[in-house]
Amino acid sequence: MNLILLGPPGAGKGTQAKLLEEAFGLVQISTGDMLRAEVKAGSPIGLQAKAIMERGDLVPDSVITAMLAERVSRPDATRGFILDGFPRTVPQAEALDTMLAEKVIPLDHVIELKVDDAALVDRISGRYTCANCGEGYHDHFKRPATPGTCDKCGHSEFTRRADDRAETVAARLAAYHRQTAPLLPYYGAQGKLKAVDGMADMKNVAAALAAIVKG
Ligand code: AMP
Repeated sequence: MNLILLGPPGAGKGTQAKLLEEAFGLVQISTGDMLRAEVKAGSPIGLQAKAIMERGDLVPDSVITAMLAERVSRPDATRGFILDGFPRTVPQAEALDTMLAEKVIPLDHVIELKVDDAALVDRISGRYTCANCGEGYHDHFKRPATPGTCDKCGHSEFTRRADDRAETVAARLAAYHRQTAPLLPYYGAQGKLKAVDGMADMKNVAAALAAIVKG
């Protein structure tokens, strides 16, 4: 089972991809996480991507597509994958179609998480993650049971993404509407697109996604 989760920044793609990973043994492939790891490592890709990401713009298609091709070729991807944050442009979607056709890998569903723009800024500006295990939290919606301590691993340091500042969020939303929203008719025309109400409670969103995965 291979899926794409589509939706604006803050729609819950990462959170839901992790839940699908746990429930169905699929592998989450997040190009944003991969880029943040490259930035942290100070690699050539990271050096190129850092300023672009901090502005809220998209990293060039060629860089992203090469990174993704390498990732889906790794053995764990044969378990089935959830693409989170890729594709983000029509050329990326076309490159993905070609890549999957060459490797004879099916794409089963493209699922749009629909969320109002007004809710996204609040969702994004309050989020943070455990610096040790990456578990996600939110100032209003999901606080650790013991303040300052990660529920999952007990660590006490947390990080916030550099591009989650309000100024950058507006640029990221603009990039979504301009460059990524055209993927909705693209996959609609392929008959693969399904929509889930991303404004619903996290558990209800997860249940709706699970129902699609189970068919
Ligand atoms: P995300 O974690 O998916 O919100 O991605 C964070 C940032 O990484 C984006 O704002 C882009 O700058 C960059 N990025 C992630 N995925 C892609 C992609 N598929 N194409 C271009 N840029 C990307």
